[in-house]
Amino acid sequence: MHEQLAERTVYLYTRIYMNIKFTLLFFVALLPKLFFGQDEEKLNELICKETYQYQSGNRLSAINFVASDDINFDLKYYRFQWKVDPNHDSISGSATSYFKSNISNLKTLHYSLSTQLTVDSVNYHGNNITFSQTGSYDLTITLPGTLPANIIDSVSISYHGVPPSNGFGTFTIFNHNNIPVLWTLSEPFGSQDWWPCKNGLTDKIDSIDVYITTPSRYTAATNGVLKEQYTVDTFTTYHWKHTYAIAPYLIGIAVTNYDVYSDTVHLSNGVVMPMTNYVYPESTDARPGTHDLVGVLEFYDSLFINYGFYKEKYGNAQFSWGGGMEHQTMSFVTNFNWSLLVHELGHQWFGDLVTCGSWEDIWLNEGFATFLEGLTHEHFHSQSEWMGWKTANRNSATFPTSGSVKVNDTTNVNRIFDGDLSYAKGAFILHMLRWKLGDTVLFRGLRNYLNDYKYGFARTPQLIAELQAASGVDLAEYFRDWYEGQGYPSYKIIWQQTADSILSIQINQTTSHPSVSFYEMPLPIEIKANGVDTIIRVEHTVNGQVFTFHLPYLVNEIVFDPDIRILSKNDTVRMGTIIGVRNNIADVDIRLFPNPVSSILTLTTSGNFYAESSWKIFNDLGDEMLSGIEKPGSTQINVAALPAGVYFFKYTRKNSEAIRSFVKL
Ligand SMILES: [Zn+2]
Repeated sequence: MHEQLAERTVYLYTRIYMNIKFTLLFFVALLPKLFFGQDEEKLNELICKETYQYQSGNRLSAINFVASDDINFDLKYYRFQWKVDPNHDSISGSATSYFKSNISNLKTLHYSLSTQLTVDSVNYHGNNITFSQTGSYDLTITLPGTLPANIIDSVSISYHGVPPSNGFGTFTIFNHNNIPVLWTLSEPFGSQDWWPCKNGLTDKIDSIDVYITTPSRYTAATNGVLKEQYTVDTFTTYHWKHTYAIAPYLIGIAVTNYDVYSDTVHLSNGVVMPMTNYVYPESTDARPGTHDLVGVLEFYDSLFINYGFYKEKYGNAQFSWGGGMEHQTMSFVTNFNWSLLVHELGHQWFGDLVTCGSWEDIWLNEGFATFLEGLTHEHFHSQSEWMGWKTANRNSATFPTSGSVKVNDTTNVNRIFDGDLSYAKGAFILHMLRWKLGDTVLFRGLRNYLNDYKYGFARTPQLIAELQAASGVDLAEYFRDWYEGQGYPSYKIIWQQTADSILSIQINQTTSHPSVSFYEMPLPIEIKANGVDTIIRVEHTVNGQVFTFHLPYLVNEIVFDPDIRILSKNDTVRMGTIIGVRNNIADVDIRLFPNPVSSILTLTTSGNFYAESSWKIFNDLGDEMLSGIEKPGSTQINVAALPAGVYFFKYTRKNSEAIRSFVKL
């Protein structure tokens, strides 16, 4: 689902312009430029739509919609036979559910279905059987006998009525160009508003057949492939089939006077597959947009793992909700803007193929889809568009000073789909891992994650385990800070270059929320001099840390994080005198030579305190590589076995420390 900037924009609006009647047009035109600078125009339409919905009073409800998720049986297959007409907000038909009993005496089945819909009958082996509808969402079916474990059986539930509208508008009719359109959007809790289901994130249905009967002037789009269509009188039935495991909320239907066309996609496994699009006839931007999307599907397919539903298709069906929804193999989109299309497509890997196992982990869907959106800007577009994506998402993720990516209230739809936290900050968790672990390791870990959990569900600890296995890096602290913790760091950097050309950079950090006292991070620092422009990476492990470099040139400027790799805000860099508490070993001249070094590094210090001094060498990831004690006179350290690179040398005398760096050839 794509609506990330909307949440923040709406909030800004209510905060700043609370009782002032600005026109919507003025607001939409002005706000992105004010707050996000250039390069935001493609996002304006999304903002507009969502803002409009908000202003109209259609605020998302925070009611707890979750109903029963019966673990006594396992869903295997559904056959839906629905009759809908986009002129009317009602549905009639049946849902035939095949299930396997998980217990030895299965007698009662609990499905979730709004009691605003009337169940007409429940058929079992050709006979109508007992059922009851109670509360808001419980449909209880009583089998005539008991089923032993591991038996597959089925019930057919016939029902009709006007579905309630919850969440993002579960079951909606609207007009485009004076033509009615009907669509469904079930995420997160809405399936039960229009079909009898299990409403949790525990049980994917192995395959589905969907028969949609509608007036013949309309066309119906849904998951999977269109197997056949037939017309009786003035009604046409469209039979769609999907043969991959699917979470209930990823089933969606859309009906209107669609134009249908296909592009061709070449997957990395050699499969040639259609991308089939159902678009409003008046949408002239559809074909250019979906044509460009073909390359993106091929990009994801080769970067991650094969498109999971390659025996069928990918597609887009147009609807008029303010954004998009990643229905499996058939995303619903309001327009054909790059960001929206690539976001929903990204969900086919992260969200559909592997689905978050709890709404607490929605960032596994939305943070990833937002991250993938960024990858496409980096891969397909100019540097300025890639920087634009990073700037916009950093601004969004640091807009709130508190709030965690981990969803603390899974009954609150607004919180689950918080654009700043679940989308932008979730994306930055991944963006920063690229910097921390490197692309090779990160993408290997993500491929393993996809392969190990495809067609199922995953939670955050399972992703962490995959990334740790791929990298060999303990990521517990990282995820404690960035996933469970709230807020962000602000860096205060002071630098000075002394007459002997030693450059010292002191890095201090404050955090916006007390849940995180310090973010241990590798930080990029750009050193600019006449004719020299270098970005170094320092491992910031303690506040007030001072990094020292012997440079044969005069530094003009120090820039923090020029490429936007770190989530931070209100950072400052200034020249000044460093009063490094941890780096002032007074009156001691610490020398390391030669530098660069290939085998033997020599340490000398002034004074005669070797008996109480020790040293450690760290690589640029902060891993301790060597350690020892200082010896009388000079200390010879054999670094021949270290891989080439930049290393940090920490010299400790009593409670004082000094940091030096050297280059191993
Ligand atoms: Zn999304």
